[in-house]
Amino acid sequence: MSKWSFCKETSSAVVLVELICEKLKGSIVEAVCTKTAIDLAGEMRCSFLAFSENRLNLEKHVLKSLAEKEIFYSYIIYLCQPRRHVESFIKNEVNKYIYTDHREKAQNILKKNVDDIKNQISRALFVATEEVKTQQGDLEMWLQKFSSLLKDVLAFSSIYSENFTDVNDFYFLKKGIEERLIPVFEDMKKHSLDKMKEFREQPDQILIKQLCDCCWETCPFCAAVCTNTAKDHSPNKHSVPFHRPSGIQGWHDLETLDLCVDFCTTKVVSDRLFRPRPGSEEFIPYKIYQTAGGEYEKWLITADGSNLTYWKWFLCRFQKELEDCHHLKFEGSGEIPSDWREYTKEEAIQSLDEMYK
Ligand SMILES: [Zn+2]
Ligand SMILES: [Zn+2]
Repeated sequence: MSKWSFCKETSSAVVLVELICEKLKGSIVEAVCTKTAIDLAGEMRCSFLAFSENRLNLEKHVLKSLAEKEIFYSYIIYLCQPRRHVESFIKNEVNKYIYTDHREKAQNILKKNVDDIKNQISRALFVATEEVKTQQGDLEMWLQKFSSLLKDVLAFSSIYSENFTDVNDFYFLKKGIEERLIPVFEDMKKHSLDKMKEFREQPDQILIKQLCDCCWETCPFCAAVCTNTAKDHSPNKHSVPFHRPSGIQGWHDLETLDLCVDFCTTKVVSDRLFRPRPGSEEFIPYKIYQTAGGEYEKWLITADGSNLTYWKWFLCRFQKELEDCHHLKFEGSGEIPSDWREYTKEEAIQSLDEMYK
């Protein structure tokens, strides 16, 4: 081999190392971020209370956080668009967990994933190089082995070996790639937590997919959300273990215009009537509410008298705002019982615990 051909081969190999590393770099960042997003979602499902159990448990934490913040506008979003509110609750909690409260833990999960990928690449380099050496293969074989060993770990698009037919020192290639990737891995360990935001798979989206893929139908009287974990659970009726006073949604007495304080669970055993649709001439007894058809028919409201202290407190706390909102009053038949006014916010929050044991 002349001096000239040695240099040519070396520079060709250097270009190839550069090319392979450029291709690997983007894929490594994406693979680490995706794996970290999945791991962080899993981590939160295990150790973050709001996400660790079932749907009811999540609802409990949503209601708890609403009471802690005590902002009427947030309640309105929750009452009118429960899914939107729950999704933004998940998003906020995930961001707080990862980027503030447990940043170090999240960073360590990311670091571990960087090390894992680093080891997998090292191993693929080693195995490809050894096998090509034993089988006296060429560059094409080396590239094929290397990418097939990594195919489950990251995307590595093919490189045309024809442009590099003079490269046959695979140890040089292996060593070159390993060295060239060191700063890439170091850089990722330092900065990549924020980089996760650039990728499709995000921990909050993973959790939203897992926790919100359920039934979102609301009670036709009080708008409480069905707690069935299946999106479509027909023929089983929609149901919820806790209803609310329907005056929160603006239900009122048609003659006196008093807002209604009764919980659905009480109304379905009363002798009163309701108008199922605005403007309809027909009145239906609450006792046979399902005969009103439509959404009424799809709900099962049991008269178990489970009247959550939480909603009694809420009604008293935001009475004025609710009255302004509906341009009606809680008075006369809809007067709020005086003992409801004695509940504190702490008792309201505690009542949620009793509900979801
Ligand atoms: Zn209801
Ligand atoms: Zn349902």
